[in-house]
Parts: sequence; C-alpha cells; structure tokens
Amino acid sequence: MSHPGATATDRHRVVVVGSGFGGLTATKALKRADVDVKMIAKTTHHLFQPLLYQVATGIIASGEIAPPTRMILRKQKNAQVLLGNVTHIDLANQTVRSELLGHTYVTPYDTLIVAAGAGQSYFGNDHFAEWAPGMKSIDDALELRARILGAFEQAERSSDPARREKLLTFTVVGAGPTGVEMAGQIAELADHTLKGAFRHIDSTTARVILLDAAPAVLPPMGEKLGNKAKARLEKMGVEIQLGAMVTDVDRNGITVKDPDGTFRRIDCATKVWSAGVSASPLGRDIAEQSEAEVDRAGRLKVLPDLTVPGHPNVFVVGDMAAVEGVPGMAQGAIQGAKYAANAIKAELKGANPAEREPFQYFDKGSMATVSRFSAVAKIGPIEFGGFIAWLAWLALHLVYLVGFRRKLTTLLLWTVTFLSKKRGNLTITEQQAYARTRIEELEEIAALVQDPAKEAV
Ligand SMILES: Cc1cc2nc3c(=O)[nH]c(=O)nc-3n(C[C@H](O)[C@H](O)[C@H](O)COP(=O)(O)OP(=O)(O)OC[C@H]3O[C@@H](n4cnc5c(N)ncnc54)[C@H](O)[C@@H]3O)c2cc1C
Repeated sequence: MSHPGATATDRHRVVVVGSGFGGLTATKALKRADVDVKMIAKTTHHLFQPLLYQVATGIIASGEIAPPTRMILRKQKNAQVLLGNVTHIDLANQTVRSELLGHTYVTPYDTLIVAAGAGQSYFGNDHFAEWAPGMKSIDDALELRARILGAFEQAERSSDPARREKLLTFTVVGAGPTGVEMAGQIAELADHTLKGAFRHIDSTTARVILLDAAPAVLPPMGEKLGNKAKARLEKMGVEIQLGAMVTDVDRNGITVKDPDGTFRRIDCATKVWSAGVSASPLGRDIAEQSEAEVDRAGRLKVLPDLTVPGHPNVFVVGDMAAVEGVPGMAQGAIQGAKYAANAIKAELKGANPAEREPFQYFDKGSMATVSRFSAVAKIGPIEFGGFIAWLAWLALHLVYLVGFRRKLTTLLLWTVTFLSKKRGNLTITEQQAYARTRIEELEEIAALVQDPAKEAV
C-alpha cells in the first residue's frame, strides 16, 4: 500500500488519534506490523470510562481506571505516544495538526485512524456545564466527587433548613446506564457510607432525583430491564421523574418542564449531567473536506469499511463513527479498531484496499449496575437482572481493566466496599471543586497569547 508523502525507504506511517478504547486497541493491534505508529491524544492516560462513576462516588481511585498510555505501550517499540489536542486533520496533505500548551505540531501520515470519541452534549445549552458537570473524564469525576461530598460538608455547617435541603438534594439528569449508576451510588453513599459521620445533619435524609425527558429508564435495554432497574432504584429511595425535560440549570437548581407543559423548579446544589453525547468536532472537520456527512450527534457517516469516502487510508472508529447497528459502546470501538489494524496489516502484504470485506459488529450484549449486588444485563435475546447479572458485570469489567496489578487492586477495593459499605477514596480538594472556571479563564488567556510557531514531530 503506498500513499502520497511516503518515500521508498520510509516505513509505513500510521497516526492514531485518541488513546481510548479505539485508539489504544488499534495501536496495540499493530504491534507486530512493519509500521511506525504515532498515537496522539489529549490526555496522558487511557480511560476506562465505564467505571468513572466509581471514581466520582469514592469507591476507586482515578489511577485504577486511567493508566498512563506511555507505560502501557513502553515495550511496543514501533509506537510513540504524543500528548496533544488534535485541532485539524488535513486530508489533502495527509497531516494531523495538534496543539500542546501554545505549540503547534504537524504530523504526516500514510494511514490515519481517528478514534477521538465523544463529549457530553447539553443540546445547545453548553452553559449548563458550569453547574451540571458531565461524566466524561477524570477531571469530571473528581469534580463531581468534590461537589457531592462538599455539599454534605456545607449542609453540616448550615443553620438554614431551606439551604440544608437544597444542599442535600442531588439531581442526576439522564436515566441511561451512567445516570442509573450515579443515582444508585449517591443513594448508597448517603444511606450507608456517610451514615453517622455527621453531627448536625443526617446524611440518610438526602434526596436523590433521577430524571429524564424520555418516558423510560435505560431505554436501550428494553422495557423489562428498564422497569427492573427503576423498581430497584425506587426501593433504595431514589425519586424517578420521567418525561421531565430540563429547561434551565443554574447555581441553585434546575427548571423542569413536565409532560403537561407546566414548569417547576428543583432546588438542588449538586447536579450531574448524563443526558447526551456529541461526537468529537474532528468529525465535522473531516466532513468539510470530503463527501462524508455527520449525523445529529456529530458522528461521521463512514463507508462499510469504516473509511471516509474518497480516502481509503482514513479510518474513523468508535463513538465518532456512525455505523448502522454499532452502538456507542466500548465493543464498537474495540472491534472497529481491530478491523482497521487488520486491514492495514493485510494491505502491507499486498491486499487490495478496494476489496476489503465490510466491517461486521459482533454484539456481545450490554449491562448496567444499579446498586451493590444488583445489575441488569442483555445478551442477545437473553435478559436478566439481580445478583447474577451483577456478578457477570463484575467479572467482565475486571477482564477489561488494563493491567494485572490494576485488576487486583480494583478487586480488593470492591471487596472492601461491597462487603463493608466503606469507601476508601473520599478525599476531596478545593482544586477539584473549583478549578474548572479558572482553567477556562486561563485557556482564554492562552488563546490570546498563542505562539504561532509550528513544529514538526
Ligand atoms: C460514564 C461512561 C460510562 C460508560 N459505560 C460503558 C459501559 O458500561 N459499557 C460500554 O461498553 N461502554 C460504556 N461507555 C461508552 C464507552 O466508554 C465508549 O463507547 C468508548 O469509550 C468509545 O471509545 P472511543 O475510542 O471511540 O472513544 P474514547 O474511549 O472516548 O476515547 C477517545 C480518545 O480520544 C482522545 N481525544 C478526543 N479528542 C481529541 C483531540 N481533539 N485530540 C486528541 N485526542 C483527543 C481522548 O482523550 C481519548 O483518549 C461509557 C461511557 C461513559 C462516558
């Protein structure tokens, strides 16, 4: 396979954007290939997003789910890890532009695998983020942990009953898997872990509200499992409000529109946003230079071989890609990445890119935990819930955590938490709670003084 930009003596250059499920899988799958891989990502770690809610609620430490990518790949000699925020992909010149603290880097590629994932969507109301952080990064999870535990601390110091009530009301927006997991874990934190730790307030009186504009809990998992999860949460005291559309979010609470058109207010200090996703803006960047289109969630509509129309050397995989029948889940990214890596390897041996078999997704099922010892699972036509589903969830998440040591420490932390209801990671700092606004201000200043110099690495 040869592409413009490669010389006869060059090894084939693969650039991978992102170190998530798609990016890391693709890079590892190219370990034995005769290629040079440069993986560019905006964080230094690979993130196991399915367990972010456990970081946010003090069960595990961030290091358990966010190992440094550089350390994972240290023995893979053909791979180089580069920190940088990719801001532009130039399809015509086959280069990737990335930025790191005011410096701009331009990296050429022969084959590109873009796996930049998705961010939180506030459906056009990005200002909600200031008061209702999403759950997409370690920063988000630590900020949420600081806000949740900080609300209990402030309530302990308050002599005003209305303020105490506001501080002890926790609202989770979005009743998908993340929302269900967060609501369940905040309830367990209040009812068990923190019980008896305060003198002025009773943590068990905290209200946890899970609301969604849709009429069901866990819609993708079907009515039966959705109702099962709903019943379990309600038994734990979580208030579930369905058909409730959030129309405004501010420091003191949220405004909700009910199905009958009336508006009401929920006074609450802590809000968690888990209502929607929006694909990386790199999808739009690619669409603007090609025949490809993006869907409403900003995902790029790729060809059956996961490439961009007119660019058989540019693969887009994972949450960024819109492919019929492939859900925005870890397996979609992992399988897409393996497919792209296999295509590269086959074509280095002479296979014709025009003759690629289309990507085929193998559905391994989906699961969500609701509480300690309770989960729901759907594997093909089989649906089940309760303790067995929870055990299956536990085993599967351990298998997919990167690194043996990490599997072991996580298992230990889980054993302590699930058997004793104690949590070992309840540390919070002021920086976690309040740094977001300051960082945004600093980014604005940095943009004004940006060094226009370009460097090639
Ligand atoms: C809270 C939560 C819980 C989840 N639970 C589950 C679950 O239980 N089971 C399941 O199957 N799926 C779950 N998912 C979905 C799953 O995590 C995603 O489908 C999967 O991570 C998609 O992989 P990806 O490689 O496409 O993107 P990601 O894993 O998100 O990786 C994207 C990568 O790109 C990098 N990046 C983004 N933009 C840029 C840029 N401009 N420049 C450089 N780098 C960039 C990011 O830093 C990251 O490394 C969950 C997701 C979340 C948020």
